[in-house]
Amino acid sequence: MGVQIRNITKTFNKFVALKNVTLDVQPGELLALLGPSGSGKTTLLRIVAGLEFADPGHGQILFHGEDVTYHSAYKRRAGFVFQHYALFQHMNIFENVAFGLRVRPRKLRPTEDEIRDRVFTLLKRVQLEQLAKRFPSQLSGGQRQRIALARALAIEPRVLLLDEPFGALDAKVRKELRRWLRQFHEETHLTTLFVTHDQEEAFELADRVAILSEGNIQQIGCPKEIVQHPTNTFVHDFLGLDI
Ligand code: ADP
Ligand code: MG
Repeated sequence: MGVQIRNITKTFNKFVALKNVTLDVQPGELLALLGPSGSGKTTLLRIVAGLEFADPGHGQILFHGEDVTYHSAYKRRAGFVFQHYALFQHMNIFENVAFGLRVRPRKLRPTEDEIRDRVFTLLKRVQLEQLAKRFPSQLSGGQRQRIALARALAIEPRVLLLDEPFGALDAKVRKELRRWLRQFHEETHLTTLFVTHDQEEAFELADRVAILSEGNIQQIGCPKEIVQHPTNTFVHDFLGLDI
């Protein structure tokens, strides 16, 4: 249950970016995928989202027990927020959040009143309902990422996928948003996979951390476990431990 990633391998031309990766995100868990730049974090997240596919014949992705390996991104219903997943500049905040509902096929599309209710509930969730009429250019970076999260939540995602969502923000805002996201997770318990190269962010935010290097999972555990018992020299050196 939750998200199950089973034996995923991904090759770009001859370069193997992911090597038989197996990883479970427990239902309701926030798991951080931590690794240096180029280790394969984004590739794995895109495969989970359905924006990229693993090598044919290799592995499986399951959402809450359902095999979604060959499902489109739309059908998987994952919510995602990326570092540079820009909001639509020509739409106000309300319309940005409503977007995922408006593009549904007619039969599944909520009414105008339902869309309005849903959008305002989400804007309240991210504590920005007063900004509904503004445009993205009139928001701070931190506010934009909270709106991006509200937009991702509009489709009632089965899992939440975040790829360095705070990566472009300055250190102070990053820290505030980290705490805010943790609080948000405590309230929603949405199964979440959070990608970062920042160990402080991973360790402060996540229930468990998976460490990736060169397309291999090196270690999975709760922050304390990893710091106290790094499984190999890569983890030890990457975390800068001096035990
Ligand atoms: P990370 O997110 O951890 O920085 P990525 O998943 O973006 O790493 O990339 C992992 C490796 O795969 C890198 O060496 C990158 O150059 C390579 N890669 C990623 N996407 C492609 C692609 N579309 N074509 C070729 N190589 C790619
Ligand atoms: Mg990346």
